[in-house]
Amino acid sequence: MNKTMNRRQLLAGAAVGIAGASALPVKAELVSAGGGYEFEVIRTDDEWRAMLSPEEFEILRNGGTETPKSSLWWENTEAGTYSCKGCDLHVYESEYQVQLGKGWVFFFHGIPNNVMLGIDKQRPSEYGGSGMVEGPAGHLIESHCRRCGSHLGHVLQVGLFLVHCINGASLNFEPGSA
Ligand SMILES: [Zn+2]
Repeated sequence: MNKTMNRRQLLAGAAVGIAGASALPVKAELVSAGGGYEFEVIRTDDEWRAMLSPEEFEILRNGGTETPKSSLWWENTEAGTYSCKGCDLHVYESEYQVQLGKGWVFFFHGIPNNVMLGIDKQRPSEYGGSGMVEGPAGHLIESHCRRCGSHLGHVLQVGLFLVHCINGASLNFEPGSA
């Protein structure tokens, strides 16, 4: 498998996807997003179900959202690194976590090059109400793991900042200074 892709190819793919309003990964398209991007970790649904709980499968592989305040990490203030539950790639760090008290895990940004943003075609903007950032055609913008494509959460506007609103169930946490 060709695991690398140069920046020009990625941008070209993204441009085509957005222009056609059929951009990045959702469900089956996770395996091969528009523009030829291939995730490094690819598993069948059966393989995913064997390694994830039903709730985790719904979130990571179907773009679901956990019940607020249900995860281990939404109030976590310990220093450390969060990794994708689908493939262990480090995706967020406590240094950029922000406590908003809304019941999910919020970050100002992901670890560089390890989080991808895509268009959530399943959920039009009215799903999240005000504060959700819209992509083309009024769909929400979602956060994905760069290595396995798993859905992590969505992008929200809070004041003048855009933050990543992440399902704690999609993350493992390793304590320790980053
Ligand atoms: Zn992953």
